[in-house]
Amino acid sequence: MEVKSKINTLYQGGLLLFSIAPSAIVFLVLIAAGAGFLWSLASALIILFAIQITGLLYGSGIIRNPLILRISFWTLKMMQPVLSMPDHTPEKMVIAMNNRKAISECSRKFTGDETLILVPHCLQNHECSHRLTFNPESCERCGKCPIGDLLEIRSRFNAHFAIASGGTSARRIVERIEPSLIIAVACPVDLSLGILDVHPVTTVGVLNEWRNGPCFDTWVNPAELEAALEMFLQ
Ligand code: SF4
Repeated sequence: MEVKSKINTLYQGGLLLFSIAPSAIVFLVLIAAGAGFLWSLASALIILFAIQITGLLYGSGIIRNPLILRISFWTLKMMQPVLSMPDHTPEKMVIAMNNRKAISECSRKFTGDETLILVPHCLQNHECSHRLTFNPESCERCGKCPIGDLLEIRSRFNAHFAIASGGTSARRIVERIEPSLIIAVACPVDLSLGILDVHPVTTVGVLNEWRNGPCFDTWVNPAELEAALEMFLQ
């Protein structure tokens, strides 16, 4: 509950910061045009409240387009150094907001054929000699990395499975498979940008663990993906 309210505060806070500039401009223009202090202030406040209310409508699922989430995200990104926010705070806000909406809005169950499990190549153990980005099936399930377990889960749910070597590769995979549901594993940056990119496809984001630092022998708990698939699939 505490995490949920922290995410909401961040999201609405980003929108509040964004609304300061247009509100101030309207206020100053109206003052200069002789509209009077109260009218100018009221107009500025209307803009501020309109942006906040649009944010609430997106959060409650009434508005589906993620433009307002993008605005909050990029505002927080710009203000991150000034506000001394920990690394990847805006990215984690996008992922949490998206997952919450995906769960609350999911009124239908998907089939395995409509589902894509998309994972980054850094999950593969660096000593593994197989070129999985071309053919994940060449994995020998040796247990040194989570790919083998993920392939087992993929088979159980009869879903598509792909390994992306980066953002462009992930985009191409999504264009080729045209899934209705994506269960995506990635780092905060790739995951947040990918989520904002693939709208209106329903996406569930799972962060990879950096046991050896970023982009190197990363890890994901297969049970997390399994739980997401059980929730969304028929
Ligand atoms: S589980 Fe598969 S991908 Fe991972 S190291 Fe073993 S053979 Fe390579």
